Amino acid sequence: MRIELKSLAYFFVANDFEVYINEKNEETIYVSQLVCTECLSPWYMELQECLLCGMVHPYIKKCPSCGKIVSTTNTRSKCNECDEEFIYPCLNDKCPSNQEGNIRSATLYTNSYSRKKGVFARNSVFSTSMNFCLNCGNESNRYITREVFLETIDDEIDTNLQKSQLTKYNQEAINRGDSLLIIKDDTGEYSANRGHELSDEETLELNEFKEKIDIEKFYD
Ligand SMILES: [Zn+2]
Ligand SMILES: [Zn+2]
Ligand SMILES: [Zn+2]
Repeated sequence: MRIELKSLAYFFVANDFEVYINEKNEETIYVSQLVCTECLSPWYMELQECLLCGMVHPYIKKCPSCGKIVSTTNTRSKCNECDEEFIYPCLNDKCPSNQEGNIRSATLYTNSYSRKKGVFARNSVFSTSMNFCLNCGNESNRYITREVFLETIDDEIDTNLQKSQLTKYNQEAINRGDSLLIIKDDTGEYSANRGHELSDEETLELNEFKEKIDIEKFYD
């Protein structure tokens, strides 16, 4: 794989995309992301939410006696002041798990698989992976996948590019709906563009050249 394409792959990985090698052509990569079908925000499968109120996993643990809160990365299992076992609670005060009653007692019940307690304890039946978009509350998601083509051009170019300035291979990219064509000019800045039909005489209108790749183009 070309070194430029490799750094592009790392760029996408760092920005929460999944990257796949194209086995048929090592000049391109596939880049994919799970997004909300309504607002196209990234959809994080690994996030947990409280089944009772929808609050996202806060990654904290709390002393049931004095209320002290520490991060889940803290290795202590007990409060150093009260010597009580930490619980893994939902942080929403209005959540049924935080109101007195049977639901609260149920979330604090210690089952045989997990000695930990609370909505977000491991093996808790009161939390689930994310069911709603964090941005708009929509309930469905889908994958967007683009084949990423990279063109490096040895000139400084402005916002118009003749189709003939592209390699033959990348000419194909601009006529394809599922492609993302990234152009790097000799100043080291990038322009990201979605493919669209273009005849030989037409010029491709590029989006602005920037130091960083404009990720918004992926979702267009
Ligand atoms: Zn809750
Ligand atoms: Zn305590
Ligand atoms: Zn959404």
